[in-house]
Amino acid sequence: MDYFLSCDACGEEYGREYPSQLCSCGGLLEVNQIGRVNFSGASAFWDYEPLLPKGRYRHYEVGSTKTVKSKEGACLKLETGNPTRSFKDRGSVIEIGKAIEYGFTEIACASTGNMAYSLAYYADIEGMKARIFMPRHANRDKLRDIREIGDARVTLVDGDFNTAQAAAARYAKRNRSFLAGDFCYRKEGQKTVAFELLENRVKRSHIIVPVGNATLISGVYKAMRELAQLGRLKGRPKIIGVEAAGCNPLSRAMASGRMSHMVPRTKADAIAVGYPTFWKQAIAGLKETGGRMVTASDREMEREQKAFYRTYGLVAELAGVASIVAAKKLGIDMPGTAAVISGGNV
Ligand SMILES: [Zn+2]
Repeated sequence: MDYFLSCDACGEEYGREYPSQLCSCGGLLEVNQIGRVNFSGASAFWDYEPLLPKGRYRHYEVGSTKTVKSKEGACLKLETGNPTRSFKDRGSVIEIGKAIEYGFTEIACASTGNMAYSLAYYADIEGMKARIFMPRHANRDKLRDIREIGDARVTLVDGDFNTAQAAAARYAKRNRSFLAGDFCYRKEGQKTVAFELLENRVKRSHIIVPVGNATLISGVYKAMRELAQLGRLKGRPKIIGVEAAGCNPLSRAMASGRMSHMVPRTKADAIAVGYPTFWKQAIAGLKETGGRMVTASDREMEREQKAFYRTYGLVAELAGVASIVAAKKLGIDMPGTAAVISGGNV
C-alpha cells in the first residue's frame, strides 16, 4: 500500500522516503494508508504485501505458521515455526527491507533477546551489521545464539529493556545506523499474525497475545481495523493481552489511565518490559474491542510450558505459553479463541 507517516506526539507528517521510524521530535511514527488497496485473499505471508507499506522486500520464507487445536478446541498459532522461532521475524523482514531501501548497512536495536536474534539473523543474510543493546541480565542462551550470528555485536547495559532502548537510540543517532525495534514498520509486519487468524473470514471471539512492548497487540488491532475496512472481518473479536504478574504495566495503565515504569520481576524475559512503547495504541485496541488484560505468574507459565511440551512435543519459552494461561484463566479455551504461541528459545 502507498502510505505516509505521521507522528503521534506532534502530528508532523512525512512521505515514505523519510528514512526513520521516529519523528524529528522523538515521537513514534505511524503508517497511514493512502488510497485503496487491491487485495483478494492470501495463502502465504507475502500475499499480504498489498496491505503492507510499499517497499522492496526480499520474499523470505516467514509467517504462514501452523495452528493446532487445544483439547477444548481453541486455535493455537504456533509462531515458534518461524525461522528464528518467534513472531518477531514477521516484523524483521519489513524493517530490514526498509533499512536496505534507505541505504543503511547497519541496524541498531534494543531487545530482551528474541527481536535481536531475529534482526541479527536477517541482517546477516543481507551482509549488514547488527548492533544490539540488551539488559545485562538478559537470558544467557539467547545471548549466546545472537553472538553466534555473523556480524552481530552485543552491548550489555546496566538496567532493563527501556534502558537498552535509550542506548540503542543514542547509538543510532550518532552513527549511521538504522534504528530498528518496536516501531511502526515492525508493527506492520507483525500485524500479519492477525491477518492469518482472521482474514479467511473465520469467526473468532477472542485473540490472545503476549504483551511486552505492546507492538504485537497494537499490530493486531491495526490489522482488525484494516480488515473491517476491506469488509473481510467476520464478527467482533475481543483482544486479550497477557502480561507477566511480575511485570504488568499495561494492566495497571488500563485501570489507572496512566503509564508508569515498573521494574520487571519475572523469568518470562520476552515480556519483561517495564514501560511498553505502544501502550496508548494497545489500550485503544483493548477498549475498542471490549477486550481486557490478564496476568500470568511465572509458576503458571512454568506449569503450562511443561504441559505444552507433553501435549504437543514442542518447546516454547515461558512468555510463549502465557496466552494459554490467559485462555484457561478466563475460561475461553474453546473454539472461537485464537492464542499466539511464540518463542522457542529456551
Ligand atoms: Zn513529532
